Amino acid sequence: MTGFLDVLRGAVTDVSTAPADLATAAIDRSGARPDGLPLAVVRAVDVADVQATLRLAGEHGVPVVPRGAGTGLAGGALAGRGAVVLDVSGLDRIVEIDPDDELAVVEAGVVTAELDRAAQKSGLRYAPDPASAELSTIGGNIATNAGGMRCVKYGVTREAVLGLDVVLADGRLLHTGRRTVKGVAGLDLTALFVGSEGTLGVVVGATLRLRPRPERTLTAAAAYDSVEAAAQACSELIRQRREPSLLELLDGATLAVIDRAQGSDFAARGQALVIAQADGPAADGEIAAIADVLGREATWSERGVDPESSERLLFARRMALPSIERFGRALIEDICVPRSRLAAAFRGVERIARQYDVAIYAFAHAGDGNLHPIVAYDGPELPDAVRRAGDDLFALALDLGGTVTGEHGIGLLKRDWLARETGPDVTAVYGSIKAALDPHGILNPGKGF
Ligand SMILES: Cc1cc2nc3c(=O)[nH]c(=O)nc-3n(C[C@H](O)[C@H](O)[C@H](O)COP(=O)(O)OP(=O)(O)OC[C@H]3O[C@@H](n4cnc5c(N)ncnc54)[C@H](O)[C@@H]3O)c2cc1C
Repeated sequence: MTGFLDVLRGAVTDVSTAPADLATAAIDRSGARPDGLPLAVVRAVDVADVQATLRLAGEHGVPVVPRGAGTGLAGGALAGRGAVVLDVSGLDRIVEIDPDDELAVVEAGVVTAELDRAAQKSGLRYAPDPASAELSTIGGNIATNAGGMRCVKYGVTREAVLGLDVVLADGRLLHTGRRTVKGVAGLDLTALFVGSEGTLGVVVGATLRLRPRPERTLTAAAAYDSVEAAAQACSELIRQRREPSLLELLDGATLAVIDRAQGSDFAARGQALVIAQADGPAADGEIAAIADVLGREATWSERGVDPESSERLLFARRMALPSIERFGRALIEDICVPRSRLAAAFRGVERIARQYDVAIYAFAHAGDGNLHPIVAYDGPELPDAVRRAGDDLFALALDLGGTVTGEHGIGLLKRDWLARETGPDVTAVYGSIKAALDPHGILNPGKGF
């Protein structure tokens, strides 16, 4: 591989083989570890660096792992022995904010929250809001089709992407999509690349839809004597055709660990907590209707009347994962079920925790039916009981007519489960698409579909 590294060094701006750089670039936040150190890290400073890396890697048959901020939770950015990490976080320019057409043109390495802050100056916002927004890149969000708390009203990343600049496996630069809000010309290649986890091309730029920033966001919260009652209240909101802009649910174990870590007293209010928001011009009427439905079976309820009191209510949700991680390691799962099956899903999570005698903290983007059961463990290795509990969580999602990932992606860790979810015909079509776009299989092999 010395020959390859020599030509790579001659063709791109920044190639590192320093062991510390390799070790950092080899992992993401999934907790999984690759089978060795990668060959090199390319820190791209422009599109030409990305094109040259892919062209040379194709010629030498070297696998390439695209990388944004490395916050992925599914092992998609793990880079093992012999791979080149292609870090595009240095492509970090916000090229344009167009307030009239409510769109942004950005490079792939722009940090999600930076884009939102730039949009704010024009009274706009970038709606997708993964909890990692202060760290994650737009390119990584697009590659994983990331979600967040606002998805219940504004949809996942795919809904915000109008067009893409993608470098293909052979080094060609492809432009997909458009700047218009509507547009149906040709096959939807933009959608094909969104969620493809670096397996079909490297996203270097994007044209993104921005939304008006709501002047008012109002909050309601309610506690219940069981997680099932809380889940039923959330399903009832959907049945009542309410339109929250956020609808989150935390179970009793999660409330207890937040109290332990933060000194709060959420668990004193009930065995589960639901937090809802409504935004926009109709927010007053909407939050009143939501609070009415949530209050029917509640043991406690409260309304956030201003940004400070709303933020106090949301504090529990924001602190959930950091509180759990304070007391040990966490296998962060991400399953999604039809919203009418939310209560059954929480019942299933409790059954799995009992069966394997493991601690599972569960909270959910309840408005999307998207649960994050967090299986806690100690020590460096994933205990067998935790692994088996994780598998049963995926089986639970499929049994309830759901999916094995609502927003974190397939990565390395869920490939077998994806095949079980989709079946052989879909797997074969995936293979044909991969072969057409990446005939030598150099792009993030072994990941995604
Ligand atoms: C504390 C925490 C909270 C989180 N909360 C959420 C959440 O609320 N919602 C959610 O959806 N996720 C969440 N995540 C997961 C993670 O932040 C997202 O998956 C995010 O989209 C990854 O972005 P990244 O830039 O870190 O990508 P990376 O981790 O670097 O890469 C992720 C995948 O995308 C590929 N990739 C990255 N950049 C590109 C590119 N430019 N072109 C092609 N492929 C690329 C990689 O190869 C890999 O397969 C969270 C993670 C953490 C640690």
